[in-house]
Amino acid sequence: MCYAIPGKVESIENNVVTVSYFGEIKKARNELEELLPGDYIYAQGGFVIEKIDARRAQEVLSLWKEMFFSLQEVDVRLSHLDIAEIPRNSQLSVIVDKALEERDLANEELGYLLNLSEESHLELLFKTANFLRQKYHKNSCCVHGIIEISNYCHRNCSYCGISNHVSALYRYRMTKEEIVTTAVEAVQEHGFKALVLQSGEDRGRDVDELAAVIKEIKNKVPVLLFISFGEIGESGLKKLYAAGARGLLLRFETSNPLLYARLHPAYSLDARLAELRMAQALGYLLITGSLIGLPGQTKDDIVGDLRLAAKLSADMFSFGPFLPSPHTPLRDGSVPSLQELLKVLSLARILDPQHGNVVVTTALETMDKEARREGLLAGANSVMVNVTPLRYRKFYELYPSRAHVNEELEWQIQETVHLLKSIGRAPIDMGTQ
Ligand code: SAH
Repeated sequence: MCYAIPGKVESIENNVVTVSYFGEIKKARNELEELLPGDYIYAQGGFVIEKIDARRAQEVLSLWKEMFFSLQEVDVRLSHLDIAEIPRNSQLSVIVDKALEERDLANEELGYLLNLSEESHLELLFKTANFLRQKYHKNSCCVHGIIEISNYCHRNCSYCGISNHVSALYRYRMTKEEIVTTAVEAVQEHGFKALVLQSGEDRGRDVDELAAVIKEIKNKVPVLLFISFGEIGESGLKKLYAAGARGLLLRFETSNPLLYARLHPAYSLDARLAELRMAQALGYLLITGSLIGLPGQTKDDIVGDLRLAAKLSADMFSFGPFLPSPHTPLRDGSVPSLQELLKVLSLARILDPQHGNVVVTTALETMDKEARREGLLAGANSVMVNVTPLRYRKFYELYPSRAHVNEELEWQIQETVHLLKSIGRAPIDMGTQ
């Protein structure tokens, strides 16, 4: 099973390498010593993660070549946008034209798109986003694995099923050995090239221990590691970067500071944003975004969320639905619609056609079985696979009935690859920079 294709190094300038994938040129940051033009590499998220033997690379490439071009054909067909389909002289057509010309949309225009409800209008919005996705990202789709290493959390987020509001939940903390084994297996046996390690804000494990885990994984396997342990402060971020982490998944949850304060008593949006900015300054890739459909959230707030994520120039946008979780203060909230979420994904793509990846989140998949496919056809180009050992997965209960909670990893991989192929996507990450 392979989630990335090898690229051939064309040239190297300082720590930036130019890589060719079947003639398509990308750049990637290199931290490996002894890399030369002509070498073959795997890159993830814009980082070179492994140099590979030329013979092995050519074997993989010859297996991929035919498939690569036939998938691309399917993707090009599905993302075709017929200009004649766009209704003329309407407010919608003016905005869509602007989006296609990649001119910045005004907040009112974003609000207008968020309010669309007629089916043909929605279809046009999703197709526009899908067209822009194809234009810049071609048919590549990132498939990241996520390992939920502990569900202990001392924070009081009023929507969250693993927050300190929930006393009845069984709490677990994977041991260092369990985490390393799970990550190594994910890479060696299942072909993952990028993994996210996530937990609640767990006071039972300090940052030095996390650093040791990351170091050990990086010593054992080539992989791009994202951390998602909440706010760990500048020294924590520095330690984990030094240990080998290169990405941070941290949503700002909402861009409205008052709503943020209401949902997270005694915490502030400023602190959350400071953490994101610190991480970025240290060189971390950022995955961020917000919850959509939070009680008290307005359409203007969602526009603000989209703007903030774009302003942070996140490497990946993660917008997911709020799903009410029992035993939390927001247990009686209501679930937003799939369409609402698809609109947000397509707007994220329209606001940043070129750089950021847009992920279909597990929460979105939980809402609707078709969400993954529909999200990928509405501007998204990334999915997550849950790699947490099955015996722990059900206890990472952010909200009830999470998608994939009982699915063996093999099954999830098969389903993912099957879906991606059916819409002409290649489960690869050719790097962004
Ligand atoms: N401690 C880490 C991980 C938190 S859990 C951190 O702070 O980043 C990961 C994400 O789950 C959160 O960022 C939140 O957006 C989402 N989440 C929590 N409760 C949820 C709910 N009820 N519905 C949907 N998403 C939820």
